[in-house]
Amino acid sequence: MAAPRKLKILFVTSEVIPFVKTGGLADVSSALTQKLQELGHHVRILMPKYGAIDERRFKIHEVVRLKDLSTKVGKNEVIFSIRSSFLVGAKERVQLYLLDNKHYFGVRRSLYSDPITGKEFPDNDERFILLAKSVFELIKKLGWIPDIIHCNDWQGGLIPAYLKTIYKDDPMFQNIKCVFTIHNLSYRGEFPKSSFVKTELPVEFNSPKGILLGNKISFLRSGLTFADAITTVSETYAKEISTMKEYGNGMLDVLKKRKKDLYGIINGIDIKLWNPEVDKQIPKKYSVKNISDKKINKQALAEKFGLEYKEDVPVIGMISRLYDSKGLDLIQKAFKDLMKLDAYFILLGTGDRKYHKFFETALMKYPTKFSCYLGFDDGLAHLIEAGSDMLLMPSKFEPCGLNQMYSLVYGTVPIVRETGGLADTVVKFNEKDGTGNGFSFKKYNEASLIKEISRAIKVYKNDKKAWLKLMKTGMKSNFNWLSSAKKYIEIYKKIIG
Ligand code: ADP
Repeated sequence: MAAPRKLKILFVTSEVIPFVKTGGLADVSSALTQKLQELGHHVRILMPKYGAIDERRFKIHEVVRLKDLSTKVGKNEVIFSIRSSFLVGAKERVQLYLLDNKHYFGVRRSLYSDPITGKEFPDNDERFILLAKSVFELIKKLGWIPDIIHCNDWQGGLIPAYLKTIYKDDPMFQNIKCVFTIHNLSYRGEFPKSSFVKTELPVEFNSPKGILLGNKISFLRSGLTFADAITTVSETYAKEISTMKEYGNGMLDVLKKRKKDLYGIINGIDIKLWNPEVDKQIPKKYSVKNISDKKINKQALAEKFGLEYKEDVPVIGMISRLYDSKGLDLIQKAFKDLMKLDAYFILLGTGDRKYHKFFETALMKYPTKFSCYLGFDDGLAHLIEAGSDMLLMPSKFEPCGLNQMYSLVYGTVPIVRETGGLADTVVKFNEKDGTGNGFSFKKYNEASLIKEISRAIKVYKNDKKAWLKLMKTGMKSNFNWLSSAKKYIEIYKKIIG
């Protein structure tokens, strides 16, 4: 029997932990690629080298033959280099390439927007045209021809289009297939129509059958239109975005058209990093066997956030980017009622300025019930997962969601809205037979949110046995990447033919 074919995969992404992270994409980019490599495939990653990436810490070095490459972005010749490093903490070494150009990436610490104004960088079109084009220059220079280019979100959206148009006649690229993964459809990578010429795509694609969306162009639409296969990060989200206008975010037409090429694959979690038995970032490690040690983390959490520790008063934690899509408008509307409940609420998040203001005011108004840190802090995220009794995720939509999976394995019972990946991972607690692993509500309104939180608090306070079972069920979940990584491989093989 012939040995199974090893694939060469170039994974192009705009964030990777621990190099740089704004959301779940960074976790996925590291964990999925490691698992693919462990399964015997040859994976290399390409990402931009932003100013925030610490060169020394990550031992980023120059590669002589990848220095001073050039490509065109619009009319301009742009010189860039590709530098080299490796994924951190991987069992099998995974090569990471970093696109180095001072003007577009190096001088900016933040990824997509100006931290002072909160506005997207006005040259994001040029920045991510450069990322897309650098893929082809890198392959040419290396002579390493991948079977698959796996690109992610709008930042990688032009790559499939380039493969099918301006680079299609180059024999080097003719057998390469492209997978495009949607981690979040709400970011469309939109630019004025005048940006179209900078992409250098054939003029017929300056239309809805190409990358035009209304009176703008969209890099996300480009990915959806030109990729050989499209994946997204849960089955429910795949269904929602391809059948319902309110989830389709302007892409329903193309997603409907491409339905047979669209797959939902749930993310796994990296159990080397998110596991209460080995987590170095929490005060006290614990497992199903010594679940009572979780209390020590609850005490530390209460202390850290300046709240009084009470064993019988549950702590509801939330870790989230602060945007409407994450259900922040619901929280804001329900806040008064939330503060009436016999529970503490601890929030970690950053995002929309209006929510920063709202929570800053709430801090002063409810100092004994509510506390928050409005910033990004990985250590605090681990502490909240370990120390809270419940974790709230009332998302309007949620492609996959990682926090509810982290919370389950930390014995922190999730309270979620039934959508996307939340619906695929949280099973509603049934009081009659004690089944389920969390709490969930369907209707996106304050009353449903408060009702389900109240139900959770009631079980926590009055039915210790049921609560313990909920915790244990969650802690025994298996969100290993293995089965999901295998599904990606099946798709790669299918499109290669
Ligand atoms: P999304 O990718 O939409 O932001 P996910 O739940 O898939 O949502 O992933 C969010 C990831 O980012 C989780 O790992 C979560 O812990 C982390 N995270 C979000 N906000 C913060 C923050 N303010 N500080 C630290 N980690 C955060």
